[in-house]
Amino acid sequence: MRLSNFFLPVLKETPSEAEIISHQLMMRSGMISQSSSGIYSWLPLGLKVLKKIENIVRDEQNKAGVNEILMPTIQPADLWKESGRYDDYGKEMLRIQDRQEREMLYGPTNEEQVTDIFRRSIKSYKDLPTLLYHIQWKFRDELRPRFGVMRGREFLMKDAYSFDLDHDECKKSYYKFFISYLKTFRRMGLKAIPMAAETGPIGGDLSHEFVIISDTGESDIYFDKRILSEDSKIEDVAYDNDLEQVVQQYNNYYTASDEKFDQTEFDNNVAKDQQTKSKGIEVGHIFSFGTKYSEAMKANVLTSEGKQAYVHMGSYGIGISRLVGAIIESSHDTKGIIWPNVVSPFDIGLINLKSSDEKINNICDDIYSNLLNENVDVLYDDKKDNPGVKFSKMDLIGLPLQMIIGNKTIETNEVEIKYRKSGEVKYIKVENLPNFVQEIKKSSAI
Ligand code: ATP
Ligand code: MG
Repeated sequence: MRLSNFFLPVLKETPSEAEIISHQLMMRSGMISQSSSGIYSWLPLGLKVLKKIENIVRDEQNKAGVNEILMPTIQPADLWKESGRYDDYGKEMLRIQDRQEREMLYGPTNEEQVTDIFRRSIKSYKDLPTLLYHIQWKFRDELRPRFGVMRGREFLMKDAYSFDLDHDECKKSYYKFFISYLKTFRRMGLKAIPMAAETGPIGGDLSHEFVIISDTGESDIYFDKRILSEDSKIEDVAYDNDLEQVVQQYNNYYTASDEKFDQTEFDNNVAKDQQTKSKGIEVGHIFSFGTKYSEAMKANVLTSEGKQAYVHMGSYGIGISRLVGAIIESSHDTKGIIWPNVVSPFDIGLINLKSSDEKINNICDDIYSNLLNENVDVLYDDKKDNPGVKFSKMDLIGLPLQMIIGNKTIETNEVEIKYRKSGEVKYIKVENLPNFVQEIKKSSAI
């Protein structure tokens, strides 16, 4: 992509309404544009990151054997009356009337909708477990939308649902999601701590929030510091292993979000010097809630003994749009964003320091087309701005690696390579560039 052709409306000033760094940087780097309170348009740079995160989440759900579906954003109120949540949900729910004056709503979550799909089609224990997910926009009329995409009113969520014959089977599904979440967040370069959590109005007994430590997080979290160094090689855990054992390794450490926290329990289970209290961002939440919805909505199956049984359910959310902000909170410096390679909007930023010079343009054009041929996603700054503007823009948008071409390249026949994260600079002969690109592709340095 040529920058001259890329819609990247960077801001010089930090917008005054942006209180936290991720919101400031997302606005400054032209990733999002506010539509109304808590509702944003995603501009090209932001959308690329959102899609990358979405695809990692999707890939990990598929690997865990969960089926992707797509449910609507607008749901009939009748389903929610069946579950009893139409009244309970209160003002957070956006209620709509269609032209026939039927009550509808913009989905804040999808337990009712998915239970309806399930009960229409699954009638026998032989078809269990059934695991379904979708990635869809949600609307919650939050009391205080703030921090940009971190607490939006409209936001993108991956929500999955499990249906099992009984509590034991349901636990197995729960563990599967637990492991898949650890794998997902690790792939994004995040250390997400599974925290024992309250199940709230949803009820039931298995619930964890996945939280990343951050000063700007809205949750208070308490945990045994040793969980941070727990490394059960989660990326290698296969789903046919004994997952309970792996989950147990994490559950051995005391963790609790503020609603569940108990000082005496904390003191009894964690040595004083390992006790940690911090702020955190909730990026995922899994819970199992038994037959709450299946009983209310009559989702039952035939058991092997020929009896009817209500299915045991769980639901499993990941805040995809919140993750964009959360990743920036955990990876930035004073110059701007530092994207982990796997979610970076481009792999490389190619900077032409003198686009009035034909020789330099030719070198850049060559490098640009070679990178494209190698399937490297490159943002080529071919604009006429001065070097200072170009450097600060490239640093702001945080691509992992920069290639800088200018007068020096003509004199020395060398390209300057700069790593955004470490600031390390090195020089590569123009003719050695193809080799260098092969190497960095192999080493996942981009
Ligand atoms: P929170 O406690 O932050 O309000 P929640 O517990 O209400 O979140 P869940 O119903 O568990 O949220 O939703 C699953 C995930 O969706 C959350 O873990 C979070 O990452 C994301 N999420 C929830 N609300 C929002 C929001 N207003 N804006 C962006 N992401 C959100
Ligand atoms: Mg939650």
